[in-house]
Amino acid sequence: MERHFKFLIFISSVVIVVILSAFSFTAMWEDPPIVPGNGVTEIKMLSEWLPSIGGTMLDTEVYIIKGSEEGGKFLLLGGTHPNEPGGTLAAVVFVENVSAISGTIYVIPRSNHSAFTHNDAMEGAPQFFSIELPDGTERVFRFGSRRTNPISQWPDPTIYLHPTGATLGGGEVSNLNRTFPGREDGYSTEKVAAAIMNLVLEEGIDLVCDLHESSPEYPVNNAIVFHQDSAELAIMTQMMLEMEGIDIRLEESPINLRGLTHREIGDNSDAQVVLLEVSNPSQGRLRGKTTEDLVTKGIDKFYLQASKDGKLFAPYDETGYPLDLRVARHVATIRVLVDSWNMMFPERMILLSDIPPYEGLVDGLGTYLNPVS
Ligand SMILES: [Zn+2]
Repeated sequence: MERHFKFLIFISSVVIVVILSAFSFTAMWEDPPIVPGNGVTEIKMLSEWLPSIGGTMLDTEVYIIKGSEEGGKFLLLGGTHPNEPGGTLAAVVFVENVSAISGTIYVIPRSNHSAFTHNDAMEGAPQFFSIELPDGTERVFRFGSRRTNPISQWPDPTIYLHPTGATLGGGEVSNLNRTFPGREDGYSTEKVAAAIMNLVLEEGIDLVCDLHESSPEYPVNNAIVFHQDSAELAIMTQMMLEMEGIDIRLEESPINLRGLTHREIGDNSDAQVVLLEVSNPSQGRLRGKTTEDLVTKGIDKFYLQASKDGKLFAPYDETGYPLDLRVARHVATIRVLVDSWNMMFPERMILLSDIPPYEGLVDGLGTYLNPVS
């Protein structure tokens, strides 16, 4: 009788653990809300440009902010790497605040949607993080993975043969920033790239900006990475940012490094393409425990030591490198990028209003996120 009782306790415990982990597992499939501002004129799904991804975890919202006057067309990509929240949040800030007077912006905050639905194995990263709003409520966001969820794409090949003939490590076929220009009938991640590529070509996109974060010990940091055809635009953007007191370095995209947004969209369309990096201590290899606080406040004693030892490529002190600052840098760079575009191509003007100011974002990103009603 006692044996039966112990067995019953054991089975009940297993059932409870399975149910609790199933809730945690499927909770990752729910999208925390994005609350569009008044500037958003239309919301489409990416499958509009590649119907075969419709109804799958790969499909994702495309927020369109269209001015009343004709002008240039700008594609803003966040969440190419969902473990780089500064990129996602800067795109969200655009969706929730910005309006267009002339021209059109297409914003995709969760470009690799599938990669938002899980975490990188063995990294101990939080699944979610939250940001406090001035009214005391919180907005929740997901901290995802660099790579597509194996539920969407498995197994990856040993070697990834890129459409250009280049060979990459097999795992890179689930990294959206290595699968451009994509294949419509290829691996899932290649399909997402193909859908974005179709959008660029069919909508006649003039300017593309892909938002990322990089670890503080990585040399391409706080940088504008540009396709060679966009060199003048990138240089002008850097000079204007420096005048505002924002230091940013320039990195030209290597011609033989295939599959990246700026390389392949630049090579395969008329668009000017840049990729932005900002320093993120919750991403690097030197970090300590990866908590929600590390993601949002960016304070880490190991990075402080590395900074004192001169090992980092971005400034770092006791104040950390908070998400507010990382998003502020991205938003300011996009604003100046668009201003530079307008100076160079006044016949394809992209005039925007209500872009949150740098200082305001540094003081608190939550001020520029809309409450969930
Ligand atoms: Zn990245």
